[in-house]
Amino acid sequence: MSVLVKNLMEDIVDRKLDKMLPQLNVCTCDICKTDILCFALNRLKPKYVSTSQGELLSRIDSLSATFDIAIITELTAGAEIVRKNPRHSVQQDS
Ligand SMILES: [Zn+2]
Repeated sequence: MSVLVKNLMEDIVDRKLDKMLPQLNVCTCDICKTDILCFALNRLKPKYVSTSQGELLSRIDSLSATFDIAIITELTAGAEIVRKNPRHSVQQDS
């Protein structure tokens, strides 16, 4: 049985971004979403866990309220930067 090392933060931040996206007032294409994700993940401490294959991690939505606040802060900051400097030409958004 193989054991994997996984950065739990990736899943958590990804899911959080999906929830926050409608309120962030930012382009929601894959390029911009990934940019916001990378920005946040680079600033947040990774949370590595070892997991055997097939183990369910999806039920973990957040680690603690402190983590939650940090994640929201970094995602909001990332969205701000992407909104000002999208990596693609500006879209027909009002
Ligand atoms: Zn975009």
